[in-house]
Amino acid sequence: MSQMHAIVIGAGIVGVCSALQLQRKGFRVTLMERDEPGAGASYGNASVLASESVTPISMPGIVRKVPGMLLDPMGPLRIRWSYLPRLAPWLWRFVLAGRKAEAERITADLAKLLDGCIEDFRPLLKAANAENLLVERGWIGAFLSHATLEKSGYATELQERHGVSIKKMTTNELRELEPALSKDIAGGYYYPGVAHVVDSHKLTVRLADSFLSNGGTLLKETAKDLSKDHKGHVCAVRTESAEHSCDKLVIAAGAWSRSLARKAGVVVSLDTERGYHFNINQPSIGLSRPVYVPETGLACTPLDDSIRLAGTVEFGGLEAPPDWKRAEVLASRGRELFPELDTQHGTSWMGFRPSMPDSLPVIGPATPSSNVYLAFGHGHLGLTLAARTGRMISEMACESSVCVDPHPYRSMRF
Ligand SMILES: Cc1cc2nc3c(=O)[nH]c(=O)nc-3n(C[C@H](O)[C@H](O)[C@H](O)COP(=O)(O)OP(=O)(O)OC[C@H]3O[C@@H](n4cnc5c(N)ncnc54)[C@H](O)[C@@H]3O)c2cc1C
Repeated sequence: MSQMHAIVIGAGIVGVCSALQLQRKGFRVTLMERDEPGAGASYGNASVLASESVTPISMPGIVRKVPGMLLDPMGPLRIRWSYLPRLAPWLWRFVLAGRKAEAERITADLAKLLDGCIEDFRPLLKAANAENLLVERGWIGAFLSHATLEKSGYATELQERHGVSIKKMTTNELRELEPALSKDIAGGYYYPGVAHVVDSHKLTVRLADSFLSNGGTLLKETAKDLSKDHKGHVCAVRTESAEHSCDKLVIAAGAWSRSLARKAGVVVSLDTERGYHFNINQPSIGLSRPVYVPETGLACTPLDDSIRLAGTVEFGGLEAPPDWKRAEVLASRGRELFPELDTQHGTSWMGFRPSMPDSLPVIGPATPSSNVYLAFGHGHLGLTLAARTGRMISEMACESSVCVDPHPYRSMRF
């Protein structure tokens, strides 16, 4: 096994965890990244290990929301008109995934993947001496209106059915946990099993450093093409400057994975849900745990030295420039939740979630007998599921038993 060479394309949190797990299994591993580790979506996300997020993004009733997505540029879900023709096939699959029976099947498949996902981080954090980056204080779902709180019953019922621990709380009970919360919220839920990290970028970099200090190689190059041997197996990755041979290849290039997957012989329905953050260095309030507002899609997370307001979804592809007004809107929504929050000074960021229409990632071989493994499409859960994904990929690459049956996450499921 020590002779086997694996290349992992993409040093986001999914690629880094895959590289570490392959290394732990005895592979010689090269991590190929065109930028710096953690420069993609893994840089600025909400940093929540959202182990309770078993329900898909597309849920029953989503069809009624699509017109609003087109008409409200500052809404929590937005589609840019110019991108609609390219998005249409993906959007149709997204709508189909929201049918009740489908949503329930997907919930079961997500729950299997999420079960124990935080535990899978522990050996990686320990080896990186980075256990202090993990904070286990749960998280809060805070509702702005009584009407939406009442309508949330179906989603919480699905969560409970799949073993998620939930406590319904009044406004006062939530304010006992987080005194900075507004008196005007309608109440919500506390999820004790959820964790967060003090900074997703710092975590990715620390894990990448651990990979390097264990003898891994980091190549700052862009994967352009794949070379195949006479049997049709991928034997090398071609970059702008060289050709690097490999026995196994992992494509973990986040939202940019689609063209590489096609070169490995598979067409995947991958698009991007662009998201924003507004990061406040001197927030003037204290916060112990992340708070999420389902109505606005806002997540507020205490990082080691700041508070991050993150979230919302914008369908606009990989090329269109950011719409920074969406980050400003996050600031005003933050004040709605925390009246004392000082949002005068903050920094804005946009990132590309790699998203599949059914909210399930792609984890597994490109085609049944391929030596190329796909590890992308984690949408809103890439940080949460990174260690679990890396473990599954390394188990498949070793042809040993896999901790979660990978069938629901196969590349050719549509
Ligand atoms: C606003 C926002 C909030 C979020 N909050 C959360 C959260 O709280 N919890 C959670 O679990 N998830 C969250 N997510 C989702 C999460 O950030 C992503 O799912 C995750 O970061 C994806 O990781 P990745 O490694 O697949 O992709 P990325 O981090 O995007 O990494 C892909 C890497 O591949 C590199 N690359 C691409 N093409 C090539 C190539 N040809 N050659 C070499 N390198 C290449 C890129 O440079 C990049 O570094 C959030 C996302 C956003 C946008």
